[in-house]
Amino acid sequence: MPANHTRRAFLQTISLGLGTTLAFPSIIHAKPSFQKKKLGIALVGLGSYAKNQLAVALAQTDNCYLAGIVTGTPAKAEEWKRKYNIPEKNIYNYQSFDQIADNKDIDIVYIVLPNSMHHEFVLRAAKAGKHVMCEKPMSVSVKEAEEMVAACKKAGVQLGIGYRLHFEPFTQEVMRLGQKKILGDVRFVQTNFGFSIGDPTQWRLKKELAGGGPLMDVGIYCVQASRYATGKEPLWVTAQLGPITDKQRFTTVEESISWQMEFPDGIMVNGFSSYKSNIEQLYVSATNGWFQLGPAYGYGPLKGRTSQGELNLPVVHHQTVMLNGICKEFLENNKFPAHTSGEEGLRDMKILMGIYEAARTGKKISLAS
Ligand code: NDP
Repeated sequence: MPANHTRRAFLQTISLGLGTTLAFPSIIHAKPSFQKKKLGIALVGLGSYAKNQLAVALAQTDNCYLAGIVTGTPAKAEEWKRKYNIPEKNIYNYQSFDQIADNKDIDIVYIVLPNSMHHEFVLRAAKAGKHVMCEKPMSVSVKEAEEMVAACKKAGVQLGIGYRLHFEPFTQEVMRLGQKKILGDVRFVQTNFGFSIGDPTQWRLKKELAGGGPLMDVGIYCVQASRYATGKEPLWVTAQLGPITDKQRFTTVEESISWQMEFPDGIMVNGFSSYKSNIEQLYVSATNGWFQLGPAYGYGPLKGRTSQGELNLPVVHHQTVMLNGICKEFLENNKFPAHTSGEEGLRDMKILMGIYEAARTGKKISLAS
């Protein structure tokens, strides 16, 4: 991993697209409003990701801790209360959630619910005056994502999306290699992420809760990768739905989807996402060489090579470095990092919806606006 100051200097110059290279929080001299050394985080929705990743991270982060929980399952409330020593006054359910406004222990609410519930709970968190982290995909429509960004802005609270890979060394190296043209100009990106889904009754297979299939769940990593490997924004997309081979599981969401995007300077991107095939790869071809990650997007350890050899980088716990990174930035500058902001999530939502529109209509959909 690059030294902290090097990484920071690099992050300051990540292009956020739309032709803009934004200044990053480390050069914004806002006055921090927090005197605390550790920020209190409340997890909303105690499912698999909250339990197996975020709670584990919050037990080892330097600058934030698990201060509260919000759950619809009383047995989980009891279990988490005991396990993490959470005071009764910091435990809420989905009905009592709004009372979190009066709880000074909670600085950040972290939404880890099924995708279609993100919008409601981000808006309620903003109304309660709490800063919000929200899991990916941030919403199930562009309109919802825009409302989430606007609500947080209006309430004067920060909105961040749980893009853990932005804090992960192999991914940061991909950003550096691509955006700084270390191996020349990027010409082509191949990005694939899929897995064989299990339980046919789970919310990920229900459009009303998931908003879509593998594209929403894991294809979003491929969209992110094409943007951070190039530092550019796509111009147009074409896409095709794969066949439905499992009629029991795939009644409302796609089983697999492929897409093609053109980025500025003629860069072409091929993407594939699936709930049927186990695949996790990123390959970037540049004028003077290539770089690739595989596995590229899961919890790791990630692995990578370039045309010049193996990438030897530290293996980290993604959620721990993400939460440490976000809270550090927040404690220093009173803002979440811009590269994982609500606006960044909104950009992805526009692309995901463009991919679905292209697949549905068979047309080339412009993303340039
Ligand atoms: P789970 O199904 O494991 O957990 C979701 C939790 O939400 C449930 O346990 C439940 O918690 C609560 N919930 C409330 N209403 C419902 C409902 N109608 N149906 C199902 N659950 C409900 O999902 P995950 O933890 O895997 O995913 C949650 C979010 O996190 C998703 O947006 C997903 O995309 C994202 N995620 C991100 C990952 C990453 O790497 N960044 C990895 C995995 C997921 P309770 O019982 O406490 O009410």
